[in-house]
Amino acid sequence: MTTPMMVQYKSIKAQVPDAILFFRLGDFYEMFGEDALTAAPILEIALTGRETGGGERTPMCGVPYHAVENYLNKLVSTGYKVAICEQVEDPQTAKGIVRREIIRIISPGTVTESIAERMNNYLASIFHETNWGLAFLDVSTGEFTIFENASLDIVLTELSRINPSELVLPPELVRLKHWRGYFITTRDRKSFTQTDIIEEQFKKQHALFEESPAAAKAANALWNYLEETLPGSELTHILEIQTYHPDQWMILDQWTRRNLELTEPLRGQGKKGTLLSVLDFTKTAFGGRLLRRWIEQPLLSKQEIEHRLNIISDLTEDSFLRGDLAQFLTGIYDLERLMGKVSFGTAHARDLLALKQTLSTLPKIRSSLFASHSESLKNYLAHLTGLDELGEELENALNIEAPLSLKEGNLLKDGYSPEIDQLRGTSSGGKDWVAQLEAQEKERTGIRSLKVGYNKVFGYYIEVTHANAQLVPPEYIRKQTLANAERFITPELKEYEQKILGAEDKLIQLEYQLFLEIRETVRRHIPQIMDAAHALAEIDVFVSLAEVAIRHHYVRPEITQGGKIQILEGRHPVVENMLENGTFVPNDTLLSRSKHLALITGPNMAGKSTYMRQVALIVLMAQIGSYIPAEKASISIVDHIFTRVGASDDLASGQSTFMVEMREVAYILHHVTEHSLVILDEVGRGTATFDGLSIAWAVTEYLADQKVKPKTLFATHYHELTSLEESLPGIFNLHVGVREHGEDIIFLHKIISGRADRSYGIQVAKLAGLPAPLLQRARIILEELEASSTLKEKSFRPEAATQLALFEAPALHPLLREIVEINVDDLSPRQAQEYLYDLRERI
Ligand code: ADP
Repeated sequence: MTTPMMVQYKSIKAQVPDAILFFRLGDFYEMFGEDALTAAPILEIALTGRETGGGERTPMCGVPYHAVENYLNKLVSTGYKVAICEQVEDPQTAKGIVRREIIRIISPGTVTESIAERMNNYLASIFHETNWGLAFLDVSTGEFTIFENASLDIVLTELSRINPSELVLPPELVRLKHWRGYFITTRDRKSFTQTDIIEEQFKKQHALFEESPAAAKAANALWNYLEETLPGSELTHILEIQTYHPDQWMILDQWTRRNLELTEPLRGQGKKGTLLSVLDFTKTAFGGRLLRRWIEQPLLSKQEIEHRLNIISDLTEDSFLRGDLAQFLTGIYDLERLMGKVSFGTAHARDLLALKQTLSTLPKIRSSLFASHSESLKNYLAHLTGLDELGEELENALNIEAPLSLKEGNLLKDGYSPEIDQLRGTSSGGKDWVAQLEAQEKERTGIRSLKVGYNKVFGYYIEVTHANAQLVPPEYIRKQTLANAERFITPELKEYEQKILGAEDKLIQLEYQLFLEIRETVRRHIPQIMDAAHALAEIDVFVSLAEVAIRHHYVRPEITQGGKIQILEGRHPVVENMLENGTFVPNDTLLSRSKHLALITGPNMAGKSTYMRQVALIVLMAQIGSYIPAEKASISIVDHIFTRVGASDDLASGQSTFMVEMREVAYILHHVTEHSLVILDEVGRGTATFDGLSIAWAVTEYLADQKVKPKTLFATHYHELTSLEESLPGIFNLHVGVREHGEDIIFLHKIISGRADRSYGIQVAKLAGLPAPLLQRARIILEELEASSTLKEKSFRPEAATQLALFEAPALHPLLREIVEINVDDLSPRQAQEYLYDLRERI
């Protein structure tokens, strides 16, 4: 026989098969069975067992209710869902077993506590019918967006940009490989297709749902899922559903976002070394989140870009305004997430105090904006008004030292409610009375150590030490004996106690009620507060961008649509920051319709990658409306930045370096347009030399020869390619200058027109610390190779793609051929050394 409690447990557990159930028993949340086995090692708590009837023992572990948050976060961040089951009736009055219900399910996409401040935490969902529909939502901030497109590629790009913590899918999509790495929750098809729920919730957005039926279904599943995980929450802060069009923003595919290190570094964690880290001087959390979004979504409209540039220009010219705004913004709390808490009903008094503090800053921000000369900034004024009264009400109501708990009283100020003042009077009057009683009884009995105390079990009592027992008057009633004292009560004391405690109970109850009313008032203001939050976020980002522009000497770019990118003395915003002041060498760039593909040669470490990324970043910064690190620039709007950089094995998906590289190149060739910017940092290195060269050659011809002529920067070690400049008009050669100094080289980091004549691989290897005998040997091998190879630049000039047959290998000695084909970059110095020893053996 199973115990009644286990019967209840099992029926509740059956509602949440994919979550770990925290089952409230007294002061603990208990986990049983599989859940206990999974959770105990993660939470580092002891695994025990419990008799569950019929002689069976079920594994069990538990956490104390007051410390539950840490444990929850640990499980959720490890990738589990947790369902919280509470006792929903008073155990004292319950008949039979206490009723219990799931009050909340916490999953990676719906968690609202302990999430990164300056990042969104998205829950997303995908549905497919004619189109691919995507819906995503940040429960903590109320942002809810849908998006629909016929191309899976575009939807996947968006998905990787928002990088959801959890993805809700219908059963038929779960098996597809595209979602690898995401935390998946499956919900049945009905949860998607019966869209009456979302339509009912967002009545005004009917047209939007008609336009994007697949995305509306994804949104429906999200809403269903929220109702399941946050039962009873009103989610008032989720005001509307937004949508967008992919051609509203520059496309940044997942590789490009990663390669350009926009918001995350290629290696390591945090944001150090990213563009975001350079541009982020925002003061508020929501400003930080907005800047991140702007960086990932550069604009395409000249008008919108210029609107942003105008505001930054106004701010750079007015240092007082900039300074004042920065200072006022420092006092602003995360309004979006505060409103989330108000909406969930979890906001406590300190949250509302934070709101009060924020609202009291608004008048200062308004007067700064009002006094400024910027018409665009003045437009924000309308969004920052209408909240003063609410601010005053909070100011009048809330006690600045209110505790975290809502059930301890002390939430409200004296003078806010006459009823509260009266109860407080009684309660504190009672306390005075107790103090008086103590003095009076001391006097009357002559017991100098007599004390009046209070505990939860006996209430108020009079304590007398054993030593004074003979002085205790007869009317004292003995209640408790301690080691060295006795505790007494008197009828008079008990009568007063009733009065005090009754007043205190009432007081706590009333304060709680009034607090809920205040919170309700705040809830009614959510739309206005969110509107103010969005305005403040934009102001914060503008002030931040203006601040960087001043600190790092950026200039305003000229934005055009003429197809030319011209940069004078451009700098890499991140690398420049990492080098000592003034040591970064600026470089010019000119890409136009007629000269659109630059082949860049030069030794490793010369600065080719830095230069190419710098161009990409400057274009991107210009299109987010930021000033840029250059002396002067004119940027024609780019629709998509493509990058193929470095060789990183995608081990997780089991693909080799070469495969990854070719996939990226294929993606680029399929998607480029006239207005794209392409960065190729080596192509064809992941395979044998001849294959690699042929592919690089063909890719260059393709990009230069097709009707579509994207602006391209291509860094390569295949010097043979540089001869293409003579046959294809769109191509021109650039190289990075080095100065020879005896056997060594000095990097000048200067981009110069024309091709590099040598690659100085051995010199760079020397700089890297390869042993001298090895280098000597490499020099000899190189000379022999150069003498025997037919691949020397001058003899290698296929005129058309058909001539690729020329690549057929010349009759080389087998060992030499082996050396030609070896991928030197894939060898560690140690492997190179071993390989040389091995070669010597075999000669
Ligand atoms: P490559 O791609 O040619 O191998 P990188 O672009 O990786 O070379 O540059 C190597 C290093 O040289 C960078 O880490 C940076 O420290 C330095 N560097 C590159 N460009 C410049 C520059 N313009 N001014 C100063 N230092 C530079």
